[in-house]
Amino acid sequence: MEQINNLTNKVALITGGGTGIGFGVAEQFIKLGAKVAITGRSKDVLQASKETLGPNCFLFVNDVTMKDTHELLVANIEDSIGPIDILVNNAGKHCKKPSLETTDSEFQAVIDTNLTSVFALTRTMLKYMIPRGKGSVINISSMAALYGITEVVAYSSSKTGLLGLTRTLASEYSQYGVRINAIAPGFIESKMFLNIMEKDPARRRRILERTPARRFGKPSDIGKAAAFLASDSSAYITGICLPVDGGNAIGF
Ligand code: NDP
Repeated sequence: MEQINNLTNKVALITGGGTGIGFGVAEQFIKLGAKVAITGRSKDVLQASKETLGPNCFLFVNDVTMKDTHELLVANIEDSIGPIDILVNNAGKHCKKPSLETTDSEFQAVIDTNLTSVFALTRTMLKYMIPRGKGSVINISSMAALYGITEVVAYSSSKTGLLGLTRTLASEYSQYGVRINAIAPGFIESKMFLNIMEKDPARRRRILERTPARRFGKPSDIGKAAAFLASDSSAYITGICLPVDGGNAIGF
């Protein structure tokens, strides 16, 4: 019988895979049989995660904003693990400030990490995936792309841009067997999120009040949804944004 969400023998590249949501995605992928390359800027963080994730986790120190390193990163992963089937663009940067206090350079830095670098790495990856006629790209967007949230102008712009990127790439390349989708996580308990919430208890309360599931999400909630979009179980799904949010986007 065909096993749903089976990732046996698949190779995945997860940017920012050493912590939070990326770690949760890596953990699920490995459970389902994948070999997973995790990236990030800190070797120590990646090393500690690899110790938990085991022998099917491989670490590559890489800053996604250094776009001229992408080609070498992909080549190194393919040489040492095998052809990459799945790319999860998860690495992200936040900036919480009123819009009028957000400088151009702060705005640009968030766009660079969350959008321009995703485009550059995906473009590199598609050049490998398209000739092979298969691949799944998953972009990690946000609730900030689905409705208005105060004090996240750069972040929201970048995550909304990711949805346009997802739809355009899916329109151009799905015919070649490569699927490009997005996940919009709700409010997920990661270090980035808990740091923000610690400084803003009113916001924390407000989020829970409008989340029908009445809890924050866990990185594994996103990992399980990503496993579905990465696997052949979702073979006819491309160009979508899947909210994984305990109903937050539709909450009153
Ligand atoms: P974390 O801070 O735990 O994860 C961010 C990861 O991105 C870290 O591993 C970090 O590693 C990596 N990273 C940041 N900048 C770079 C860079 N320039 N190059 C390579 N890696 C980088 O937070 P989350 O798990 O919460 O965030 C993961 C993604 O999920 C982000 O895109 C975020 O916007 C998104 N998201 C999170 C939500 C939440 O509620 N937690 C909700 C919606 C979306 P290092 O610093 O070592 O490089």
